This record gives sequence, C-alpha cells and structure tokens, in this order.
Amino acid sequence: MRAWEAQIIPTEALQYKKIVLRWYLSLKRRIPSYYIERKEKIMIKDDCIFCKIAKGDIPSATIYEDSDIRVILDVAPANRGHALILTKEHFDNIYEMDEATGAKVFAKATSVAKAIKTVTNCEGMNVLQNNGEVAGQTVHHFHLHLVPRFKDDEVNMSWNPKTTVAEEQQALAEAIKKGL
Ligand code: 5GP
Ligand code: ZN
Repeated sequence: MRAWEAQIIPTEALQYKKIVLRWYLSLKRRIPSYYIERKEKIMIKDDCIFCKIAKGDIPSATIYEDSDIRVILDVAPANRGHALILTKEHFDNIYEMDEATGAKVFAKATSVAKAIKTVTNCEGMNVLQNNGEVAGQTVHHFHLHLVPRFKDDEVNMSWNPKTTVAEEQQALAEAIKKGL
C-alpha cells in the first residue's frame, strides 16, 4: 500500500461508517415499532386484523395475554362466552405453525375452557379451529375457537358419517404416519 492510500482510505471509510450509522439511527427514530417487533422476533402482517388485535393496536375484550398469545371474546359469537385464542405471531393456519406454539395454544385452551364453563354454566363446549376457506376459515390468522354449548342452542357443527374399510384405513394411517 502506498503512503497516501494508508492515510486517505481509512478516513473515507470512517466517514462512510458515520453516514451509515447516522442513517440507521434516524431510521430507528422514525419507525421504532419496526425495531421493537424485530427485537421480540414477532412476525406480523400489516393488513391482518388479528395481528392488530393480538398486538393490542385494535381493542378487544381480552381474557388473557402473554408474550405468545391473546385470548379474546368473539365479536360475533355462536353463543355467549365464545372465545378465540390468537397467536401473537402471524401464522395463516395450522400448517404454518410450529409445535411449541401449538402446545402453548392448547395448554391455555384447557384453563380458558374451564373458566368459560364456570362463568357461562355451559353444558358442553366445542373446540374448533378452521384452516382454509373450504373449512370455514374467514380470518387467515391462526385462531382456536372455544364455543360454549347449551341444549337447543341451534349452533350446528355436524356431518354425515361415512363408512370405512379396515384395510383402507390401515393404509391411510400408514401414509399419514410417513408424513409426520
Ligand atoms: P373463522 O371463521 O376464521 O374460523 O373465525 C373467525 C372468527 O373471528 C369469527 O367467529 C368472527 O366472528 C371473529 N371475528 C372476526 N373479526 C373479529 C374482530 O374484529 N374481533 C373479534 N373479537 N372477533 C372477530
Ligand atoms: Zn395476522
């Protein structure tokens, strides 16, 4: 390296570093929420209503909240006490979700179900989770329904049972097992 290079290049590099640092700090000041979300490693989707509710940007009747989930009352319930467990991270559906988050959702469902039962005196409860429009999913952010049930409540969750053949069932079970 020639003598003039040794003096000029490090100075220019330092100035460049300062410019980048200034730009980074000004960006951080302008959009702090972006950095907070990155720090917490919570992936959210801008146009998703349940992301906004889960984060608390849109108010909801909240039953429970921690760093992973928020449990709210459904705004248009099937019955009084119909609750939804939302993940704070955006997952379109169950296929996108990891097992650890799923475990947290279902663990909380057990205690929330008992509390709903105590408060509403429901005689039964459906735990329901829709994936895909064909399955009735209307909000494409993972959520688990807890629907308290009462005799003659006119909530309908039934299907016509199909017949099965034992060998086909075995083959099907094996095929699904391979996909685990
Ligand atoms: P899905 O059909 O996707 O399984 O269920 C979506 C549920 O979310 C519905 O039961 C609907 O009433 C509820 N829901 C939709 N928008 C809102 C909202 O803004 N706030 C609350 N609390 N529930 C909502
Ligand atoms: Zn979302």
